[in-house]
Parts: sequence; C-alpha cells; structure tokens
Amino acid sequence: MTRPVIGVLALQGDVREHLRVLGDLGARAIAVRRESELASCDGLVVPGGESTTIAKLARIFGLLDPLRHRIAEGLPVFGTCAGMILLADRIEDGTADQETLGGLDITVRRNAFGRQVDSFEADLEFAGLADPVHAVFIRAPWVEAVGDGVEVLAAIPRDPAAGAAAGRIVAVRQGPLLATSFHPEVGGDSRIHRVFVDLVTTS
Ligand code: GLN
Repeated sequence: MTRPVIGVLALQGDVREHLRVLGDLGARAIAVRRESELASCDGLVVPGGESTTIAKLARIFGLLDPLRHRIAEGLPVFGTCAGMILLADRIEDGTADQETLGGLDITVRRNAFGRQVDSFEADLEFAGLADPVHAVFIRAPWVEAVGDGVEVLAAIPRDPAAGAAAGRIVAVRQGPLLATSFHPEVGGDSRIHRVFVDLVTTS
C-alpha cells in the first residue's frame, strides 16, 4: 500500500490537526462522518475531544456498530486522549451511560491527572523512538491496567514530584491498535503519527 487512506473520526474534537499531520506524512487523510467514508479507510484516527460526546454522536450518526465491527476485523486505529478512552475495553470515572468502542484490553481512568495538573506537558521516552517526545496532556486519561497482549510504549517518569501520576502508563499498542493519553497532533512532532502510518501500510 503506497498511499493509505487514513480517516479521522470527525464528530467532535481536534480533527483538523490530525488531518494535517497525516496529509503531511503522505497519507490520503479524510474526515469520517458516515459509514461509507469509514468503509473506504485503511486506518482511522479517533481524536481528542470529549469521549462522552464523541460516543453519543457516533450512535446518532449510526457509526458505533460499524466502528466496532471494523475494529473487530483488525482495522488499524490510533486513539489520542478521548480517542484512547473510546478504544478502551474498560473505563473508570466514565459517566453511567458512557459507551465505548473497545478493542484495547486496557482500563483507563478519565480525567485522571486531577485538577491541579489538569493540563501539562512532559518529555517522555517512547518505545521505538530514539529521542523523547514532548507530550501535551489536556484533561487526559491514564491507563490503570493493561492485559497480557498490550505493549506499554510510554509512561510518566517515576519521579516523586509527579505524585500519583508517577509511573502511570500513557501510551500503548495492541496489534493494530495504538493509543496515547496525550496529543501528538499538536507541537509539530509527527513521529508517532509516522509509527501509525507505517502500521497501516504494513497491516
Ligand atoms: N477528558 C476528556 C474525556 O473524558 C478527554 C480530553 C481530551 O481528549 N483532551 O473525553
């Protein structure tokens, strides 16, 4: 596959930033709001935003079951922040009726970093990348627990200054599913998107 079609679920959230980065990397980047658009995708990004809103809109747009179906079939999907929450099989601190796409054998905690560090930035080692990534967290989740098949790609350093966040997992991969708690689409570093584009191209 030379030029994969990579969709960005465009119901709510930071859609435009992902489209731009994916386009810069040579993918055919398309906004996905309909089942027919989803059907044309070789890979999909589920952006940051508000996971409860994205899930509600996905139901209204008739996309929830088609998305679950494509994920079950092995569609490569990259979820960032709210997108990570939507890919998680289990959610802590979700709303009572919060629906999820699932697929990733992880438990995430929504808004985990708490009020004092609602939004923050950190340089993190990321498995497979030579230099640290500058990670931007915006009311981000963290990963509480991972299943056996899940590879941990990044975690908050075990520094006492990080308090309860020390050592928390913030990036994972399970087969064709990739997820980060933070927002790699902001800040001009496209290396994690490159990892995803390569994953799409080789799957
Ligand atoms: N707190 C948001 C949620 O629960 C996620 C925030 C984000 O995507 N930046 O969905």
